[in-house]
Amino acid sequence: MLTSAEQVRSWQRADLHCHSHVSDGVLDPHTLAQRAHANGVELWALTDHDELSGLAQARQAATACGLPFLSGVEISVTWGSRTIHVVGLGIDENNRVLQEGLASVRDGRVTRARQMADKFEALGYPGVFEGALAFASNPALISRTHFARHLVQSGHFKTMQAVFDRFLKDNGPAFVPTQWACLESALHWIKSAQGVAVIAHPGRYGFSDLQFEALFSAFKDLGGSAIEVNTGSHQPWQFKTYAEVAKHHGFLASCGSDFHGPNESRCDLGQVPALAGDLTPVWHSADLQSQLHHAITATQTITTQSIANQQ
Ligand code: AMP
Ligand code: MN
Ligand code: MN
Ligand code: MN
Repeated sequence: MLTSAEQVRSWQRADLHCHSHVSDGVLDPHTLAQRAHANGVELWALTDHDELSGLAQARQAATACGLPFLSGVEISVTWGSRTIHVVGLGIDENNRVLQEGLASVRDGRVTRARQMADKFEALGYPGVFEGALAFASNPALISRTHFARHLVQSGHFKTMQAVFDRFLKDNGPAFVPTQWACLESALHWIKSAQGVAVIAHPGRYGFSDLQFEALFSAFKDLGGSAIEVNTGSHQPWQFKTYAEVAKHHGFLASCGSDFHGPNESRCDLGQVPALAGDLTPVWHSADLQSQLHHAITATQTITTQSIANQQ
């Protein structure tokens, strides 16, 4: 049998970015775990926006099907007056600094949603707050995604992308700017909870080279160590671009589908291509080895128990 260190090194198919219905995903954490396992994922993380409440169920369900699990979160951050996302992997979800920090990020969402709904009403779409809220299993996490989902289901638009392009994109007619966490705080919370910080989908931000240099250097100075390279939120041609960026800056590389729901997301769980062989995967990070060892041991304990129960 492989040691846990050997298993970690053998993994090719990790999915370290996706969403459940505790943020803006459609499925519950249990269903996601089973879907990840069925799709051949070897290491899985749930990374809901600014929210940890799905992690216990995700871990339990993943472990029960023999799938090693890392806890995760995707933190909304304002950097240089723009929104970026920072993923924390292997975080201790019981850490108070992280919990309180995320609570402060969630705080303004309902007020912002009402303001977005006012804008929609002025644009000729009444009742959108209630409509969006009906899609938010966790009202504290009401997001632009729920608005888009409502406007598609109510027949106003064919796709969620069309709603974003027409109304909800940054600085679009229904967009309401928000002050999320600052980069320093997000990194402080992740590090306090013994996690590894990853810049999510850098290809989505539209920064200039100079802005990227400033972001990467600030992120490194604060203890950040990885960027997403292969993600469902990148166009496939960007995988190469960000592989070069990771190598150039000495970042570990992460990968994940950014799956939100069936028929919605470009990439299903486990279907993002494996990282190129000349990158160092984030799960090789020394800072994640004890969490990974625990995750592997937990799946083996479950398997041993179920064999014993069958005898
Ligand atoms: P919020 O946190 O409320 O600003 O919503 C951000 C979420 O909206 C992201 O996590 C994505 O799931 C979704 N999103 C953002 N931009 C787009 C876009 N252009 N097309 C589709 N979904 C998007
Ligand atoms: Mn999302
Ligand atoms: Mn994101
Ligand atoms: Mn995401």
